[in-house]
Amino acid sequence: MAPISCHCCGVSTEEHKIISCFMCKKMFNHTCVDITASEIRILKSKRGMNWMCCDCGKEGSDGPTLKAIILELKQDLAKLQEQILSCKRTISGDDTYEDMISEMRDREKRKFNVILFGVAESDAVSSTERQRSDSEQCQNLLRELSVDCQVSSVRLGKPRQGQ
Ligand SMILES: [Zn+2]
Ligand SMILES: [Zn+2]
Repeated sequence: MAPISCHCCGVSTEEHKIISCFMCKKMFNHTCVDITASEIRILKSKRGMNWMCCDCGKEGSDGPTLKAIILELKQDLAKLQEQILSCKRTISGDDTYEDMISEMRDREKRKFNVILFGVAESDAVSSTERQRSDSEQCQNLLRELSVDCQVSSVRLGKPRQGQ
């Protein structure tokens, strides 16, 4: 590759340290035009971002300066970071929302709880057998009341001695 020399001082330098004016297409060492190598990298990586030498800039240019463009980009970046942060906050906020929903569903379910007193406990030895008897009695009672629903019973209070 042919060495690129600076229009200003005639010294050739590495490609990433040299920038061309988008108006006159002349090449300049970054040190001669007072911009940093990283600013050149930004200018070259962003499409639509152009740099103008001071000769071209002098001729009635009222476009934004490089420094102003970089400042603007930094502000945009800060805004984006703020947006990302608030997105994260919303996502973690949704978790609490989920909790709220499940709590409400739980409450909804408990509305259908009925406590029955004096349901005779089965003499069955196994606890699953007693549990089945409880459910059956509850189901029978509800059937008598013409309530059609599935019963899942839990006996409150101390279980009988044994299993
Ligand atoms: Zn130079
Ligand atoms: Zn120029």
